[in-house]
Amino acid sequence: MARSKKPVQTTIEHLAVTDLSSEGKGVARHEGLVVFVQGGVPGDVVDVQVLSQKKNFQEAKITYFHQKSTLRSEPYCQHFGHCGGCKLQHVQYSEQLQFKHKQVLDALQRLGKVSIGEVEPILPSAQTRFYRNKLQYSFCNKRWFTPEEIAQQTILEGVGVGFHVPGRFDKVLDIEYCYHQIDPSNQVRLGLKQFALEQGFSFYDVWLQRGLMRTITIRNTTLGEWMLIVQVGEPEMEAIGQLMEYAKTAFPFLTSLFYVINQKGNDTYDDLDMVLYHGRAYIREQMEHLVFHIGPKSFFQTNSPQAVELYRVTREYAGLTGREVVYDLYTGTGTIACFVAHQAQQVIGVEYVPSAIEDAKVNAQLNGIGNTQFYAGDLAEVLLTPGFLADHPRPDVIITDPPRTGMHPLVVDTLLSIACPRIVYVSCNPATQARDLAVLDAKYAVKKIRPVDMFPQTAHVENVALLELR
Ligand code: SAH
Repeated sequence: MARSKKPVQTTIEHLAVTDLSSEGKGVARHEGLVVFVQGGVPGDVVDVQVLSQKKNFQEAKITYFHQKSTLRSEPYCQHFGHCGGCKLQHVQYSEQLQFKHKQVLDALQRLGKVSIGEVEPILPSAQTRFYRNKLQYSFCNKRWFTPEEIAQQTILEGVGVGFHVPGRFDKVLDIEYCYHQIDPSNQVRLGLKQFALEQGFSFYDVWLQRGLMRTITIRNTTLGEWMLIVQVGEPEMEAIGQLMEYAKTAFPFLTSLFYVINQKGNDTYDDLDMVLYHGRAYIREQMEHLVFHIGPKSFFQTNSPQAVELYRVTREYAGLTGREVVYDLYTGTGTIACFVAHQAQQVIGVEYVPSAIEDAKVNAQLNGIGNTQFYAGDLAEVLLTPGFLADHPRPDVIITDPPRTGMHPLVVDTLLSIACPRIVYVSCNPATQARDLAVLDAKYAVKKIRPVDMFPQTAHVENVALLELR
């Protein structure tokens, strides 16, 4: 007999939220299905409206609270709920830490079936707001309106400067105040918006791919240096000149002022010429005894003080005595390589962005480090290049810090064949780290791990793992 199909239930009452998902949504269970509850916190008992129904789960939003979790915290930002930025503001920081710690253990032990010798407690970030050293804001000729604004039926048109609304590439949430970066970051954004409006400059239209004001990127360092990069969508030189003069005079604290003309379909400018209008071509950041130059295109960890802590854990796990040959894979601008160089005999860094490798060489030289070598190329190719491993001394320690996708299977295989005594695996995605550790398990035991919170108020977590050859 055919089973009758149940009608889709659009509301669920008295639903108990019991967990947080890896994306930071509340998790509940109803009639054997997982329900992801937007803004739900473990301990909440709520009525929800089902927004979408998939085979194994439902997405829902809260319509009524029967009980609010004691783990909740009052969100401090007026844009919370609409902005994709700080999604965990409604959860107390101590609970965010617990959640991230558990996230790492779930991925490694439950999904990856990795056995771990010692689990060190998650390292909290000293700053939980204003910790970012880089923000990019988009200008948009049609801003996003919140459901409250729509309900008030004010005039629903206008420009905006802020962040893209999650899932909407063409809509920007107009930001009044952002807690991500210390001030005067907010003043720079608001000042430029005001000036552009007064001058009648056009704001970018994503559909037409036209408009002068496109994005601004604001970078700062703990040494108090500031960089502003204004990206324009039209080669209107007179207007660009006015913008630059305004920024130079209104923001005298800028160490470095750039503009870039981008008429391509996307906002990335790594492949474009950047024009230095005023000041230095770089800003400086300090980490322990090291100084780094950060250019407009250079990658740098976005929470500097916590990056120092992450690197300290990495260096401690590497257990260096001064005699080791270290490979720093996915070295970026060579920060980890430079950070460990004083305690190693030699460090070899590999990274596929050529300009990052140029930065890495400058950084090493700047700090009087003479025992590093850097190579640009895809890791899978570099490590498999005939002669690369033969021409360089075998590593005693490999530090690897791949992007969110984890390591390429060929890289993992090569690590297994090199079989060096120690690997320190720094990861920004526990799921792919678990996958790679499960393969490395053929030869390596995970001695210890230490999760590190680099991004408070978000669901992201880093994890450092020490692997030893069995
Ligand atoms: N360890 C650095 C950067 C880590 S981010 C730091 O702490 O600052 C990961 C780096 O891996 C990025 O710089 C990215 O450009 C690089 N990368 C990504 N895929 C790569 C690949 N297939 N081969 C080499 N490098 C790669």
